[in-house]
Amino acid sequence: MEKIKMNVPLVEMDGDEMTRIIWEYIKEILLQPYIELKTEYYDLGLQKRNETDDQITIDAALATKKYGVAVKCATITPNAQRVEEYNLKEMWKSPNGTIRAILDGTVFRAPVLVEGIKPLVTTWKKPITIARHAYGDIYRNVEYRVEGPGKAELVYTDKIGKETRQTIFDFPGKGVLMGMHNLDSSIESFARACFNYALDVKQDLWFSTKDTISKQYDHTFKDIFQEIYDQEYKEKFEGAKLEYFYTLIDDAVARVIRSEGGYIWACKNYDGDVMSDMVATAFGSLAMMTSVLVSPEGYYEYEAAHGTVTRHYYKHLQGEETSTNPIATIFAWTGALRKRGELDGLEDLVMFADQLDKASLQTIEAGIMTKDLALISELPHKQSVTTEAFLHAIKKTLDGTRSV
Ligand code: NAD
Repeated sequence: MEKIKMNVPLVEMDGDEMTRIIWEYIKEILLQPYIELKTEYYDLGLQKRNETDDQITIDAALATKKYGVAVKCATITPNAQRVEEYNLKEMWKSPNGTIRAILDGTVFRAPVLVEGIKPLVTTWKKPITIARHAYGDIYRNVEYRVEGPGKAELVYTDKIGKETRQTIFDFPGKGVLMGMHNLDSSIESFARACFNYALDVKQDLWFSTKDTISKQYDHTFKDIFQEIYDQEYKEKFEGAKLEYFYTLIDDAVARVIRSEGGYIWACKNYDGDVMSDMVATAFGSLAMMTSVLVSPEGYYEYEAAHGTVTRHYYKHLQGEETSTNPIATIFAWTGALRKRGELDGLEDLVMFADQLDKASLQTIEAGIMTKDLALISELPHKQSVTTEAFLHAIKKTLDGTRSV
């Protein structure tokens, strides 16, 4: 069979540790035999980021704006220990944070469901995608420890110097205090990214905040979503027979737990942070969670939701075999290839991405899997294999389906 051709390159962002090793395996075993892979390569490995004073991360994000679709390997976000380990010039910022700031995106996280691994919530049959607003709120807050009695005020000074003042609290003694913000422009981007994504994957969109308590802050989120929906998306949603639905976060939580899944749940920054971990855990494994950053201008960056699996990497360096789960990284590649195929009208590339997804899941359902899954799978005849053996097993399944 002739190899599939691509017209426009994917922006390929390589990464660190065990996921960097898996990255190469995936390309070699599952992609290059079938596709004339066209990528513009950016090495976001920590060493290269250090050599280039992190310019490589900025270049990779700008390339994503140029070409539209990127696929990213997990990367180390350095802390003090990493500065020593890699002899870094600086404690470089999180690459994901840098890329997100340039693309102005919303992060969508969805679990990959597979037979034999039952969600802990028994009603869940379909994936629940969390759309997390990635700007502001407590992540950009200002906070104080109040050391004694005194008055705390909220003061806003406009451009011509006019002050608006409001008492927050008259402290009778010690306490805590916090100020936070968000921007209409960021909330609007978040709303559009959610509506576009829902139309793209043909799923209903839920949005929840605590607007009954937060009558200005959260209510603004609710109002902006509703205005944008009514003005720009209502007809498109109705045409696609999809629903946009707003509810209080407490009600949303109750409904999510009783639901079958199969929708997108848009959450404010903190809610999304917490809820995506809950959803990932309840669906079974972080290694089965896909993640895509979608910008309002329509740029896409696909990645795995997990980190660089450091523990396995140190074993690998000692010559030991590892059984690291490559599913989320495979799905990052297939997500990016599928999107490239859709944008460029390459049906064979879209079909290949679908076939590879299916072959990966069929392999697990046939009982061949990595150790993390073998520990939780309910299949009676399961076999835990190394990462490489697992990738070759997927290739075998894929070759079987492609030759039919
Ligand atoms: P991690 O996701 O690498 O590991 C967390 C736990 O989950 C570990 O017990 C690990 O063994 C397990 N695990 C994760 N993915 C797995 C897989 N594919 N197969 C089997 N088991 C898997 O997160 P961490 O240990 O907190 O961080 C390690 C490094 O990754 C850090 O340097 C951190 O900065 C980085 N990180 C990067 C990203 C990203 O690039 N998106 C996200 C999180 C962490």
